[in-house]
Amino acid sequence: MGEIKVIAFDADDTLWENEIYFKEAEDRFAETLIQWYPKQYSIDELFRTEMKNLGAYGYGAKSFTLSMIETLLRLGGDNVTPEMVKTVLNAGDKVITHKVECLPNVEETLSILCKSFKLVMITKGDLLHQQRKLKESGLSCYFDHIEIISEKDKNEYQRVINLLGISAAEFIMVGNSLKSDIIPPFELGATAIYIPHDHTWQHEHSEEPEMKNGRYYKINAIKELVNLIHQITH
Ligand SMILES: [Mg+2]
Repeated sequence: MGEIKVIAFDADDTLWENEIYFKEAEDRFAETLIQWYPKQYSIDELFRTEMKNLGAYGYGAKSFTLSMIETLLRLGGDNVTPEMVKTVLNAGDKVITHKVECLPNVEETLSILCKSFKLVMITKGDLLHQQRKLKESGLSCYFDHIEIISEKDKNEYQRVINLLGISAAEFIMVGNSLKSDIIPPFELGATAIYIPHDHTWQHEHSEEPEMKNGRYYKINAIKELVNLIHQITH
């Protein structure tokens, strides 16, 4: 398979840390309700609210914050004080304003791969938040093209592939979410490389594709990517 032209990367928890900040906010949210509900119960209820709101609010820290407030009011009822709302708002704000921390070996990997391939970043989430993270990460110089989209499904991947003027067989997608980064491009006939992250949002879980057809790979860390791409393309 020597025809690969474009390597696309997910951003959150593939290039930089993300989910740990949401988990921290969830903990602070659950703490505000701890006198009435066990921690896990509040977190499960929050997830239920997020899923209900996904179609209207989309992904990202702002919708997450709105869902925290909605869940706080639903569970806490008349016991909710302005202080509690403030705590939850601050927790959401921290998700948006945290310092961007690239994962190990990301920059050197991109700097090697960008010499032989067109690199693309494909992410979902809040437009402004993702743009700021990309700028702060210092990684934007390695990418030929950036897509910040509302859902990573087959239609969106096909649109990006068409936009790039290539075929699915010439496209590799790298990411930490089976549901968003791996399954849709794989089903389109592209190559998908899965790099699991210790913290991945439960909404992003899915079954792994069959390994044996040569278009799905799983590696432990991004530092293994250059070697794998070399094997795939030679
Ligand atoms: Mg991700």
